[in-house]
Amino acid sequence: MTSPGFKPGGRQRELTPVGSIPTRLRHVGMDSAKRSDMSQAATPIGHRRGEWLRVCRVHFKPFFLYLAAGVALGAGAVARDPSAWPTLLGLSLVGLLLWPFLEYAVHRGLHARARSARVRAFLHRAHGIHHAAPQAVGSIFIRFSASASLSALLFLLFASALGSWPKAAALLIGLWAGYLLYEFTHYVAHFGRPRTAWMRRRQRHHQLHHRDREDARFGVTTSLVDWLFGTQGASEKV
Ligand SMILES: [Zn+2]
Ligand SMILES: [Zn+2]
Repeated sequence: MTSPGFKPGGRQRELTPVGSIPTRLRHVGMDSAKRSDMSQAATPIGHRRGEWLRVCRVHFKPFFLYLAAGVALGAGAVARDPSAWPTLLGLSLVGLLLWPFLEYAVHRGLHARARSARVRAFLHRAHGIHHAAPQAVGSIFIRFSASASLSALLFLLFASALGSWPKAAALLIGLWAGYLLYEFTHYVAHFGRPRTAWMRRRQRHHQLHHRDREDARFGVTTSLVDWLFGTQGASEKV
């Protein structure tokens, strides 16, 4: 009997059908069956002490790296010129406010309709797989290679535009704070049981992005940018 994807006499190609869940994306140590339907509030994430630490340790190790890098860069920037801390703090806030726009642009770009099969395959690997298998917890988090290369690129851009690495670092730290908030919000939107009205709104907005129309509701941490660009969608009912 020939298994799918096996060509007798030829090289075996590993076929990954659209919607399948690669092993590395499967939820480790959690019952994935409970997460097969986003309408079910799954594990009450955050209700138990240390639960978030466990989620980050198992599924989102870059969290610790970005936290450490942010503290090290921030301390280095302030140590270089202690009197500049108000400017640096202001730039970090600007970075945090810029995050929703970056989040929106990247997410909307990943939903682009491409003619090229290569680009379509790339978009599927980068984001389509998350829509095909939202119950796979590994598909929730942005790959470290992608976020690290984008961070390096942005740091170089900011440093050349501002002519100062401490200012560039301050902007980047603000963006990282937004990025970590995004990962947290996205995880709760799929697997959490939100305890605040704001988080319930975020969950509803994102669930509608998955269920209703994938060409609307690209904002995860906020709907503001969707509202600005007219992609907030029609109905807010789940
Ligand atoms: Zn999407
Ligand atoms: Zn999602």
